[in-house]
Amino acid sequence: MRGDKRTVIVICDSLRRDLIGEADTPFLVELSQRATAFAAHRSVFPSTTRASSASIATGCLPARHGLYGNTQALDEGDGLVCRNVGAPDFRERMRRATGRTLHVPTLAERLRWHGEVSIVCSNVSPGAAYFQDPDGHGYIYHSAGSYGPGATPIDDPASAGLKKGIAGDQAMTDRFCAEIVEDRAPALALMWLSEPNYTGHHSPLGSPQHRAAIAAADRCVRQVFETVRRLDPSGEDILFMTGSDHGMETVSEAVDINEILIAAGLKEAPQSRDVVVAPQGISATIFFSEAARGRAAATADFLARENWAGRVVAGATLSEVGLPTDTALQVAVAMATDDRVNPHGVTGYGAIVFNPEDSESKIGFGQHGGLGANEQRPFLIAEGGGFTARVETRPTCLTDIAPTVLRHMRMDHDDTDGQALPQGA
Ligand SMILES: [Zn+2]
Repeated sequence: MRGDKRTVIVICDSLRRDLIGEADTPFLVELSQRATAFAAHRSVFPSTTRASSASIATGCLPARHGLYGNTQALDEGDGLVCRNVGAPDFRERMRRATGRTLHVPTLAERLRWHGEVSIVCSNVSPGAAYFQDPDGHGYIYHSAGSYGPGATPIDDPASAGLKKGIAGDQAMTDRFCAEIVEDRAPALALMWLSEPNYTGHHSPLGSPQHRAAIAAADRCVRQVFETVRRLDPSGEDILFMTGSDHGMETVSEAVDINEILIAAGLKEAPQSRDVVVAPQGISATIFFSEAARGRAAATADFLARENWAGRVVAGATLSEVGLPTDTALQVAVAMATDDRVNPHGVTGYGAIVFNPEDSESKIGFGQHGGLGANEQRPFLIAEGGGFTARVETRPTCLTDIAPTVLRHMRMDHDDTDGQALPQGA
């Protein structure tokens, strides 16, 4: 099917498009001048890594792929409980509770239909890694466990020792270039860096630490690109794409929506299973039991009156943000964001939804998950495979990446929410 056609993708988690500049990312600046740079690229909602990962893998919005954020309420037989999608066992919980994982095929599965192989190396959460290929059609290498086709566990010492951060990303990049892109040469090789997301959650945006993490990600992208173009100097066969899954805003305050809904009489108790808030950083998805579903509209009206709330969607309007209308998820709130400038000159603040299980959500540091201008400003650059040097100003989305890979492989790509990225004016 493919001839010599291959795709190599590098994701720099959380890298905001407006933080790409000569000082910190000289390579991305250089690449964007010789490639197609997408100037109106957007994330999905919630703009969390795990929902984004599934959208990149499937070319579909959360409404169709079925993964609704970094946390998600599941009814495992005893009522709705909020679960962490990042946990290694979430896939199995989802399968047991709903009978399946993602509702649409991933790139890994589509490639396997044609006898082709995909290999993913990821240094972010297990959940975000595994939702590239939750049913085990290709290879996934991750520190929490690596898998081959048939979801067969693989002993992979190179991944087992990886830690999030600059050093772990660099070690993963060395391995990705030598063993995967060069030696094994699969149809799709995708590497997902932890930076600058990891440091962005633990330091102020634009601080020296955050800028060092951005610069480190830039070096990793350069190393992969140089490997790719050494193997295919003309760029005819290997399509190279690099981008991020979302950006970040600076956290202004944390809001305990659970507590507020209980005080308002809209939820019974902290651990009650009638109304379950799933925190997504700068947004929340709210799940309702069958018995409590009649409270959804009142809950949405109540939230919309709070000054920390931005856009609130419920029922039929969930489809406007790419969420399903026919599940227990009946209300979503994107928190209010504003364009104040932080002490390091980086624009954009947003309130976060308090999450007792998340140690990463710190006031003054970076976060994402909502619809703010900066968290919805990921970058994307495509080089080779017919992409010429130009800036594309038409809107594009994470969901356009999978159909672009399929088009390059000359495979069907007309059944995704996204569309293959435009080539030429
Ligand atoms: Zn992310």
